[in-house]
Amino acid sequence: MNEMDVQNVEDGLLAPVYQKFPIEIFKGKDFTVWDKSGKEYLDFMGGYGVAIVGHCNPSVVKAINEQASKLMICHCSMYNDARAIFLRKILDVVPSQMGRVYLSNSGAEAVECALKVAKKYTGRKNIVAMTGSYHGKTFGALSATWNPKYRSSFEPLLPGFSFVPYADSSELEKSVTEETGAVIIEPIQGESGVLVPPEGYLREVRRICDDKGTLLIFDEIQSGLGRSGRFWASEHSGVIPDIMCIAKGIAGGVPMGVTVARDDIMASFKLGDHTSTNGGNPLACAAATATLDFIVEKDLVNNAAKMGKLLSSGFSDMSKEHRIIRDSRGQGLMLALELRFEVKPLLMDALKKGLLLLYSGRNILRFLPPLTIGLAQVTQCLEILEEVISAEEKARFN
Ligand SMILES: *Cc1c(COP(=O)(O)O)cnc(C)c1O
Repeated sequence: MNEMDVQNVEDGLLAPVYQKFPIEIFKGKDFTVWDKSGKEYLDFMGGYGVAIVGHCNPSVVKAINEQASKLMICHCSMYNDARAIFLRKILDVVPSQMGRVYLSNSGAEAVECALKVAKKYTGRKNIVAMTGSYHGKTFGALSATWNPKYRSSFEPLLPGFSFVPYADSSELEKSVTEETGAVIIEPIQGESGVLVPPEGYLREVRRICDDKGTLLIFDEIQSGLGRSGRFWASEHSGVIPDIMCIAKGIAGGVPMGVTVARDDIMASFKLGDHTSTNGGNPLACAAATATLDFIVEKDLVNNAAKMGKLLSSGFSDMSKEHRIIRDSRGQGLMLALELRFEVKPLLMDALKKGLLLLYSGRNILRFLPPLTIGLAQVTQCLEILEEVISAEEKARFN
């Protein structure tokens, strides 16, 4: 492997669907990753929000190693202890109204299950989703994903999907009818630039769904597991959904998707209605149990709230000083800085200075660091940002 040109191999052999950063990572620990030259980066991209408990979290690594040497494969048609332990654990941390779990391998799959079970339970054909939504790129999830850039080449998508403006309850009220099986929504929109809906909005969504007998699906794939400063972003509004989608960091870096629903809803699935060969495999379950334990034991939810406050107050200060910043927003450690120009040069500058960031669209910086960061990492991030933003501002206006 030493002499292999990894970048060339990937560029030549991997499906050309990823916007690549010019960086080759080979090692990670907590909030730090290293490239092959040994250069160290502070990872505020957080593996697109997956590295919730940090890279190579020791308790997760230990759980994986122990489970890997015992049993990795056990189809859900047989019983397994690691799976049963995880099922109890996840139902412990979701609202008590949730009673049953479906296990898969990704966020998009968690959404597929939610959409299918909503159709099955209600017998209704229509789904209402939001403008700006992101739910994944398989055909069902893509049908609920708004961005035309992702959709247009693949039409026709599934019938029955419509979109209403996010955070606008009167438009939603007009669109939800007795034919609507479910409304699917991110309690905080991620991909479209970290949009937190106004106070009271999600309660209105709940009421509208209840009025029409429509199920409410919360996609907490990005906002969940403490990211927003509460265990679930829905807790900020006190709204309980009927179905929840969870993925990204749930298994500490092992691929896993989880759909939880009220018992009566999930029970509408009959034998064979929806299955997955690798879903619920013991390795992912053991990793997920260790991840949830770590989040709870280390009180990462509180840490995310605290560090998020520090980071976002740093952003507010910066936006007063720098006119190229248009807006700063978000909750907990799900934050965004919207600039008045393309962020790509800024991302590259930050990378050179050892800070790994993520974008949302052309002009938004997104921050999804591990929830394990402390004051030192917040300070370092703010310092590097201040440097690259000042430099960019000078280059543009002087
Ligand atoms: C990442 C994400 C998904 C899709 O997850 P994949 O694992 O990439 O399929 C769905 N919904 C939201 C809100 C996400 O952030």
